[in-house]
Amino acid sequence: MSPEELVLAHADLRDRLFAAKLLVPCGVDGLYGRSATFEKVLNGVDAAAYALGIVDDPITISFPPMIPRSTFEAVDYLRNFPQLCGPVFTFTGDNKDHSELVHRLDEHEDYSDCLSLSEVALTPACCYPLYPSLVGQLGDGDGWYSTMGYCFRHEPSVDPMRLQAFQQREHIRVGTPDDVLSWRETWVDRIPKLLESIGLEFRTEFANDPFFGRAGRLMSRSQIEQELKIEWLVPVFGEDHPTACVSANYHQNHFGELFGISTADGAEAHSGCVGFGLERCTVALFAAHGTDVSMWPDSVTSVLWP
Ligand SMILES: [Zn+2]
Repeated sequence: MSPEELVLAHADLRDRLFAAKLLVPCGVDGLYGRSATFEKVLNGVDAAAYALGIVDDPITISFPPMIPRSTFEAVDYLRNFPQLCGPVFTFTGDNKDHSELVHRLDEHEDYSDCLSLSEVALTPACCYPLYPSLVGQLGDGDGWYSTMGYCFRHEPSVDPMRLQAFQQREHIRVGTPDDVLSWRETWVDRIPKLLESIGLEFRTEFANDPFFGRAGRLMSRSQIEQELKIEWLVPVFGEDHPTACVSANYHQNHFGELFGISTADGAEAHSGCVGFGLERCTVALFAAHGTDVSMWPDSVTSVLWP
């Protein structure tokens, strides 16, 4: 498939989702309203992904779709992924500044210099707010967590699997390197079973995050060489252009060192997370089984709505 054909395939699936009123255009690529049916499927995927981790008895926490700017800066998101980030700006000026702002609006001129950085940023990955909350020593038997929430990444696209605002279910393990790696192995076992049960084809790959620039290429290479990130890719647009729908990540001691987290034994904590892209899985299901949920196989719906 040529790049032009791929864009047409993206637009075709997006338009079918619009026509079926599953997604509702908002005027910006990657920002869509969702029908009750779309949300029902998404919540079914989330429930199934959550249920897979129940055996670990995780502490389940919800966070708002924003993180403190201090966390956003500490995790180096702006340094590593400036092209994706969403710091929040607001107006903090006086009456004179406000007059200038209104003037710019009236004249349809750029007003970005009338705004200033606030103390929050949009959450890029829903596990980020967890780590600073774990500062200090983990209690005996602690170290399993689960969270779900909205994330933001600035990558406008006609591809309905690449949204700017999307939800993730994440399972997180904090502990010794052995704890985290053996936990990740359990997910390497669990994830294919879930994808198979809902009728999604996939393949598995060691992958990298989209680090920016020349230094980023080195980080990407090292991430693959160290096998830190495993992705489950679903070929909605053909085998040559699969989309990562689930990933399992090993952060080594990155967050443990950054936020001063230690294991119950006092060692520096390592961490890992498993993330399900809920909209990506949902769109993949509509692509695989059609836009009419009433026609889906019982084997699939019985997993989503047991
Ligand atoms: Zn994560």
